[in-house]
Order: sequence, then C-alpha cells, then structure tokens
Amino acid sequence: MHYVSTRGENAGLTFDDVLLAGLARDGGLYVPEEWPAFGAAEIAAWKDLSYVELAMKVMTPFVGDALAEAELRRIVTDAYSHFDTPEVAPLKPIGHNEWLMELFHGPTLAFKDVALQFLGPLFDHVLAARGERICIVGATSGDTGSAAIEACRDRDNIDIFILYPHERVSEVQRRQMTTVGAANVHTIALEGTFDDCQDAVKALFNDIPFRDRMKLSAVNSINWARIMAQIVYYFWGALKVGGPETPVTFAVPTGNFGNVFAGYAAAQMGLPVKQLIVGSNANDILTRFFETGAMKIGQVVPTISPSMDIQISSNFERLLHELYRRDGAKVAQTMATFRDEGRFAVEAEVLAAARELFDGGRFDDEQTRILIDAHYVATDELLDPHTAVGLSAGRALRKDTAVPMIALATAHPAKFPDAVEDATYRRPDLPAHLADLYERDERINVLANDLDAVRAFIEDRVEVTGASGGAAA
Ligand SMILES: *Cc1c(COP(=O)(O)O)cnc(C)c1O
Repeated sequence: MHYVSTRGENAGLTFDDVLLAGLARDGGLYVPEEWPAFGAAEIAAWKDLSYVELAMKVMTPFVGDALAEAELRRIVTDAYSHFDTPEVAPLKPIGHNEWLMELFHGPTLAFKDVALQFLGPLFDHVLAARGERICIVGATSGDTGSAAIEACRDRDNIDIFILYPHERVSEVQRRQMTTVGAANVHTIALEGTFDDCQDAVKALFNDIPFRDRMKLSAVNSINWARIMAQIVYYFWGALKVGGPETPVTFAVPTGNFGNVFAGYAAAQMGLPVKQLIVGSNANDILTRFFETGAMKIGQVVPTISPSMDIQISSNFERLLHELYRRDGAKVAQTMATFRDEGRFAVEAEVLAAARELFDGGRFDDEQTRILIDAHYVATDELLDPHTAVGLSAGRALRKDTAVPMIALATAHPAKFPDAVEDATYRRPDLPAHLADLYERDERINVLANDLDAVRAFIEDRVEVTGASGGAAA
C-alpha cells in the first residue's frame, strides 16, 4: 500500500514512512492511494472476532509489507491489553435501537487512547528496526497530552515533551500528565495560553537545525496511523448491532474531524453506513459547512466540552480530497484560500455529495447540560459533555429510527467532573486505576513563555536521557 498527499505529492511512500513523517512535505495530509474494499460476506464472517483480531483484519491492508503480520499482532495485542475490558469499545443499549459505544476504557479515559496506545509500541518498533531515536514535542489543551504521554512512557527510542498552559487545564488533566514519573516523559507548564503553547511548538519545528539535531517528531491527530486505528471500532460497533446486514448510523462529537473521518473510511471500505452525524458545541464551523457548503473561520469560544473548542478541523482536508475526487491541486488551492481569507465554499454538487453521508448539528452548553441530566434521570448513567453533544445531534438528525444508531462516547464522565456535577448534582467517581490520582506525587515544571527557555529545557533533558539510554542524539 502506498500513500499520497491530499495536496498531490506522490512520492511512493509506505506505511512506516507516513507514520514517522506525520505531515506531507507539500503541507497536505497522507491518505492511502486507494481504499481497501471488503465484501459484505467477508465482513459478516468477522462477527465473533475479538477486538484484536478484528483490528488485524481492518488494518493489515493499510500496513502492507511495512510490518510482518506477527509483529503487527504483537503490537496490537500490547496496545489493547492496557484497556480495562478486552472488548476495548463495549456497547450499551440506551434507547429504541440506540447504543452508546464506550471508547473511554483506556488509561487516560478519552477515546484518543484507542489510537495512541497503538501508536506508542508501533513507533518504538519502527524506530528500533531503523536504528533511530526521536523526540516527540506537542502542545495540549488537556486530553491529547495525557494520552500521548501514557502511550510513550518508558519507550526505549522516544523522549516526549508536552507543553500545556499553566493553570489552564483541569486538575484531572494536569495530574494525568505530571504524575507519570517515567524518565523519558517531560511536561512543561508554560506561562501562557494554549495558543502560546502551540506557537512555541510550531516555532521549535520551524527551527530546522534544532529540529534535525533533536530529531523532533509529532503524534498529533493528522497522523494517518491514528485514523487507521480508529476505523476498527466502526466495524466493531456495526457488527454488534446487526451490521453488515443492516446499515448503521453513527453520531460523533467532532473537533478536528479525525474520529468521524475514520467512520467515512469504514464506509468506503464496504461497511454499510446510513448516516454520519457530526455534533458541534458553540464552535460550529463544521455544522455550518454541512448546512451551507461554506467553511468560515470564527473566534474560538470556551465551552464545557473543551476538546471540541476548535475552529480549524485539520482532518477535514482528507474529506475535501475525497469530495474533489482526489484532485490534489484543487485541494491545495482551496486550502490556500482558506489560509489567506479564512473561508472557502464548495460547489452545490460537492455539498450534495457530502450530505449523502454527513449531517451536522450544534448544541450549546445549556442544551448539553439538559441532555446529561435527562439521560441520568432516565438511565442512572452519567455522560461526559462531549458525548452528550454527539448524542443530541444524533437524536435530532437521525433520518430513520429503524436503522440502528451508535453514539460514540468519547470520554469518561470523571474526566469532566465539574460540568457533569453542574448538570446532575452528582460528581462522577474516577475508575479504580486512577482512584489515587489526587494523592500521587506531581512533577511540575513551570517555564516562562519564552522560546529560548523551552529550547534549553528540551536540550538538557534529551542529552541526559540519551546518555543513560546509550543512544545519544
Ligand atoms: C479530541 C476529542 C474529541 C474530538 O475528536 P476529533 O477527532 O478531534 O473530532 C471529542 N471528544 C473528546 C472527549 C475528545 O478528547
């Protein structure tokens, strides 16, 4: 399997190349040259497979010859052994022909673990095979940082540095990052905002001598391997509720468009999907696109579902590439317009093609709290605010209630305890493996919002780890 950039570059790259590269050199995102396709009979035969074996079926065509089958199986098995249930993504009936798929059973309680727990051992294996070592640097507003740290802790060939805004993440989120205590894990509490953290990371990557010397790399949500790992649970969910004999509708709370794009990929691979319903909070750029065909950037508004407080959905470019029938030059031109003018619009037939599968709905904080409360009263179960946004959109926009609907539960309610308590007057408990989170020792490194300070911090620690690990950069 070869990969191409959404902006046209076609350098014959394989899976391991795009894994390590992240972003394409022309600024685009990598996508497989073609979608692997499975027949209905083949998919139907997967009904009784374990999550690990289903992942092997779905991912093997994308990986191609880059990894031996036994190696891939070892990595997948390792990845999902850190979930608190072998089902990985258990389904719960919650209403008439309606299910919740719980994607929060990984170590950091958000769906990002499903992909990142796989990426950690995968990176380590590919780096060891190539005799390389990397330094991952990332900025986080909360969820991605802890998931990336858990995935990379104690890995032989990786150092990881995560920048987060000092005193601007929740206590659960901060403690998940600062109590890890692994020698290769470093957190930086930057005296600034999340945007300052992102700007610092961008500046480090743009400092080419520093980037090369430190061997900087990223695990952000544009990495193809993350999308690939997320495709698996769309097959998993559909098979549990009557697919592929019946089509299935999915309701997905959406920020960067990575999660729901994996659902689109599953449909291209032969899974019968009726609708992909995208839920937005007040930051509704995607919902407005699906309503009007125009993508127009606005101001980021803070909400009670902060992991979706985003105005630029990076992974949308992958859908645009599909809607433009893989015309890379046209994607490049559109993205240039978007960068320069903060907006673009697609032709009516392109919007119509998108609307064949996609619908979008927006729900503000008050509507989100009302759904969390109503769901608690009806079922005695607590929902996290992101999940509630997705479920609200699904219920509002579902076209056919005879078609099963699966709402993706993207975080455990205890990850956002204040919002849940505000809605229900009940504070969610942390699961057992995190029950002592508030007692664990923290290691907090506060740095001024100053690039030289950040650079020096990284340089010092990579040398230390490099010397003790016997693999100096
Ligand atoms: C990251 C995140 C989302 C948004 O997912 P995207 O792939 O960026 O669309 C939704 N819910 C939670 C809890 C998240 O952490």
